[in-house]
Amino acid sequence: MPAPFRKTLLALLLGSLGATASAAPGTVAFVGGRVIDGTGAPAIENAVLVSTDGRIVAVGPAASTPIPEGAQRVDVSGKTLIPGLINAHGHVGDVLGLETGHYDRGNVLRQLALYARYGVTTVNSLGDDQYEGFEIRNITNPLYVDHARLLVAGPVLAPETVAQAVRAVNGVADQSANFIKIRVDDNLGRTAKMAPEIYTAIADEAERRGVPLAVHTYTLADTKATLAAGADLIAHSVRDEPVDAAFIDAMKAADVCYIPTLTRELSTFVYESEPEFFSDPFFLREADPAVLATLREPERQQRMRDNPSAQHYKNNALPMAMRNLKALQDAGVKVAMGTDSGPAARFQGYFEHLEMSMMVEAGLSPMQVLQSATQVAAQCLGLNYLGTLEPGKWADVLVLDRNPLENIDNTRSLSAVWIAGNPVPPAP
Ligand SMILES: [Zn+2]
Repeated sequence: MPAPFRKTLLALLLGSLGATASAAPGTVAFVGGRVIDGTGAPAIENAVLVSTDGRIVAVGPAASTPIPEGAQRVDVSGKTLIPGLINAHGHVGDVLGLETGHYDRGNVLRQLALYARYGVTTVNSLGDDQYEGFEIRNITNPLYVDHARLLVAGPVLAPETVAQAVRAVNGVADQSANFIKIRVDDNLGRTAKMAPEIYTAIADEAERRGVPLAVHTYTLADTKATLAAGADLIAHSVRDEPVDAAFIDAMKAADVCYIPTLTRELSTFVYESEPEFFSDPFFLREADPAVLATLREPERQQRMRDNPSAQHYKNNALPMAMRNLKALQDAGVKVAMGTDSGPAARFQGYFEHLEMSMMVEAGLSPMQVLQSATQVAAQCLGLNYLGTLEPGKWADVLVLDRNPLENIDNTRSLSAVWIAGNPVPPAP
């Protein structure tokens, strides 16, 4: 783009950062709400949170936190502020309705806007990212404020030789992928599993290029083996057997994060009948009636009831995942909220709220879950400018009508979303 156009565009974007007619342009003060800052610290009641030019500059009790002259005041009394949610494992751009193969710029942006309206202000896309995704990743931080920030991994790598592995890693590293993504899983015995010499070569080359490696695994043995080979992020739950002390120690020693994706398991079987969430207004406000009609088809539901894999994920994998989540959280392993939303019928934005409810069902406290979806997820993704409501961070702020510490389902009482100090617009 020629320089003058670039300058004009920048001016337009900066102009849209909510400049108010005052001595403090772009200053917003959220006044009178409860602030849960994402660090695990107790909530601040009757707080003031101030952001200037997209960044938080002050947060604290109203009595001791002055509101700058000329700031745009947002009255949030009786409401609760939490940081924007960070989905540590999502996907964007491929699905339209229930159909795959629709990856393009418009679809990526549409889905990122959907995430944002649900309060998921950052999405780590772990695979199947194409050129347009990289392009959007490059511009989403932070000037575009009407959709979620995006991180990308490029294609899920599936090389068959060590030489291919090295070449594949360099291909994605050259595009500055945020993560490299691989799968080490035989899908309940239905497909071939990546060999140790291949994932070891990938891990070595990824480390040499400085790109963190995210692994999809299913079994405890594979998760341990990929961790030993150099995995930096565990993208799903261990689902075949209980985690043990050796695994916990290895995760903590390597400071590797774990992403439960409980809703991924749920999605494999939940459409065997009408899911409870089909009557949740928070779900229905963005749901496509045609998609719901298809998911309600009796023959489709019957096929899911008859599917041995679906029933295995329901009766074995999900309960094991929930049990392991609780054990790992209790042991002090870093757990980052992530859903694997984006594939068909894994509803972007809504599934992150459902995931948080399931994490509480697994035994975590609402405070632990909120931290997992904000501060911890940011740390796990290396985003030190996001994740908490503290001075210096981007002002990604969710306004909730009810207190999520009383009931995690109250994250669904979302009444406003702000990204970098700007309100996210309602659905078009
Ligand atoms: Zn995934």
